[in-house]
Amino acid sequence: MKIIQVLTERGKGVSFEFFPPKTAEGRKALLEVIKGLKVFNPLYVSVTYGAGGTTTDRTKETIYEIQTVLDEPVMSHLTCIGATRSSIRALLDEYRQKGVENILALRGDKPQDVEDFDPSKGEFKYARDLVEFIKKEFPEFGISVAVYPEGHQEAPSLEADLEYTRIKIDAGADFAITQMFFDNSYYYDFLDRAQKKGIDIPILPGIMPITDIVKIKRFASFCKATIPAEVEKRFEPYAESPEDMLKLGVELAIKQCEDLIGQGVRFLHFYTLNREDAVSEILKALVPTHFS
Ligand SMILES: Cc1cc2nc3c(=O)[nH]c(=O)nc-3n(C[C@H](O)[C@H](O)[C@H](O)COP(=O)(O)OP(=O)(O)OC[C@H]3O[C@@H](n4cnc5c(N)ncnc54)[C@H](O)[C@@H]3O)c2cc1C
Repeated sequence: MKIIQVLTERGKGVSFEFFPPKTAEGRKALLEVIKGLKVFNPLYVSVTYGAGGTTTDRTKETIYEIQTVLDEPVMSHLTCIGATRSSIRALLDEYRQKGVENILALRGDKPQDVEDFDPSKGEFKYARDLVEFIKKEFPEFGISVAVYPEGHQEAPSLEADLEYTRIKIDAGADFAITQMFFDNSYYYDFLDRAQKKGIDIPILPGIMPITDIVKIKRFASFCKATIPAEVEKRFEPYAESPEDMLKLGVELAIKQCEDLIGQGVRFLHFYTLNREDAVSEILKALVPTHFS
């Protein structure tokens, strides 16, 4: 089933994003995490994809295994940087046979760990090209795209980024998921600007609980997501204490989600980092009826 249909029918709920573990043992552990999170009745779950095809097999394996324990749709992220049409076609053909019907269409970034990677050998330039390709050759697939409340790191301006986003969505995206943000005003402002541009698909907020401030700071600075100074300051006393860091990260994420729900947001997409503890604590604290 296309995820947009699930969003429309259920009207509210949560989704979870995972990365593909490196080993069979890791995948087994992930299935336990997913079984634990099933009580929150997810709308769908998604699995990331290494740009340049660096995790194709692992992403596929992970998705097929999740399908054995979950009835809800499992969406594959798919990057097109450096990819040929025939390689994407082969993957989507396989997905069709395996009942994977939803794709988060992305450009991706040049992989750091592939020395001779040459994006110019690819046949897609932007995510929009991948959206157009899927729409044309695999119209039965549901398509989502990534959006950036604070602007994408390469974009010359917020306005230019939003215009490219509009074009990407108009090419055939059913819904969008945001880059992580830690100050909800960026998201509200983005919704406002998107609406003025005529973008009317659901835009799901991407929530990243801060379970490790050092790692998240590094990642956030790469992808231009602001961590407010007062948030960073609150983590300072806990640099050496993972438990306290987790506790504070959960507390802040609960506040963030409560604010979103209070403003009428009906869907929350969690970057789980393959952990059950943080998301589980957050969702237990949110009004249970909101997501049942
Ligand atoms: C929810 C989410 C999930 C993600 N999952 C993954 C994943 O699984 N694997 C992974 O490798 N990465 C993932 N990413 C990261 C993503 O691949 C990077 O952010 C990447 O840099 C951009 O991908 P995109 O699909 O947004 O690109 P695009 O939409 O193609 O945009 C890339 C840049 O090009 C600009 N642009 C677009 N069109 C034009 C044009 N016509 N002319 C000039 N400039 C243009 C945009 O403004 C932007 O700056 C994810 C990001 C998000 C938010």
